Amino acid sequence: MGHDAHAEPEKKPGKLGLLGKAYLPAIAQGLLHTLGHIVKWDHNTLNYPDEKRAPFPGYRGEHRLTRDEQGREKCVACFMCSTVCPAHCIEIVAEEAPWPDREKRPKIFNIDMMRCIYCGMCEWACPCEAIELTEVFNIPVRTRAEKIYDKERLLSN
Ligand code: SF4
Ligand code: SF4
Repeated sequence: MGHDAHAEPEKKPGKLGLLGKAYLPAIAQGLLHTLGHIVKWDHNTLNYPDEKRAPFPGYRGEHRLTRDEQGREKCVACFMCSTVCPAHCIEIVAEEAPWPDREKRPKIFNIDMMRCIYCGMCEWACPCEAIELTEVFNIPVRTRAEKIYDKERLLSN
């Protein structure tokens, strides 16, 4: 029998190479770091829903229809918000206002919160600050219909 030129060189078992030894301190350091996270109290963790994080300033949550100093809705049913809304989720039906300082008010004002993308364009478009986005964002419901907020709901938000 002749010598086989393609034979695998024989491996010596049980010995780490120089490269393997170089990794050991880094592995130990990583394990210690993980252990540190396990044992220390992580102050970034909240026990939701008992604890809630305050939204950042400017956060755009669910809508509110505002009232004037006499308690009347400020909305004059001009349709600017529903016209600008990219999600077409605002439905307004106007009626004659019973007050001399405006012509119209909304008889129906619905927002489908499931279609809303919370862009805030309705608030920007409103000429009389009658609609605004609040910081409320976590109102759970059981049906889709409950997420269609009517005028009374929006005025009480
Ligand atoms: S926040 Fe944007 S998507 Fe939602 S109702 Fe207003 S305009 Fe429409
Ligand atoms: S909420 Fe403002 S923009 Fe929308 S219909 Fe009322 S007055 Fe017009």
